[in-house]
Amino acid sequence: MADVLRVCALYPDLMNIYADRGNMLMLQQRCAWRGLGFELTAAGLGDPVDPDGADLFYLGGGQDRDQLLCAEDLVATKREALHAAADRGAIVLGICGGIQLLGHEYALGDRAVPGVGLVDLRTVREEGPRLIGNVAIEVELPGLEGPRVLAGFENHGGRTKLGPETRPLGRVLKGFGNDGRSGYEGVRRGTVLGTYLHGPLLPKNAWFADWLLATALGRDLRELAPLDDALEDAAHASARRAAGI
Ligand code: GLN
Repeated sequence: MADVLRVCALYPDLMNIYADRGNMLMLQQRCAWRGLGFELTAAGLGDPVDPDGADLFYLGGGQDRDQLLCAEDLVATKREALHAAADRGAIVLGICGGIQLLGHEYALGDRAVPGVGLVDLRTVREEGPRLIGNVAIEVELPGLEGPRVLAGFENHGGRTKLGPETRPLGRVLKGFGNDGRSGYEGVRRGTVLGTYLHGPLLPKNAWFADWLLATALGRDLRELAPLDDALEDAAHASARRAAGI
């Protein structure tokens, strides 16, 4: 059982829409408050990734243009390492543009941009309005006693469809989710997770930050020391209210 959380942020400069890097600060702070170590490394364009070098690999959201740059690089220089990391139980978390790149492809006009294929999903940039607004989803995860709510904000042009055997991260309570039709939001295959929720996601959902932290460290969630979460609970309640639940 490790007591240092090692995080590798993929393309932190290019894939950081809505300050998605705030999610890293949240993990860092929750480790610090508990006396756990935290190490943050970054892998940008052209940088190789050591599959054993982190417990959590993080890919934030991005504009289509930046996302295309990263997609090519991700497949060329990081795909195998991310598969090896996921195979040994490391967390791979993709937010918005990030979830799109975890799948098989992102079809954009006449281009089909390949993803790393860690999960069976495809995303298409259809005609029609962007899917924008506050969103809340109901999530069940191993180690949790019952369903929990994730609340956040979504803004995506891409519509994501899961393969027939693929599980979503959650069920949409309010908002659009993966495609505005299926009632599904995000994806989860073991420790590979993707979601459209920005916010940033973790400051609005401290319970999920702790689930990620515990899972990445191979600990039981109940082993984590409780924290005074008055402000975090207020942020969560406010995000839920914004979504209308
Ligand atoms: N570029 C992607 C889309 O619009 C993702 C956007 C984002 O990360 N917010 O679908």
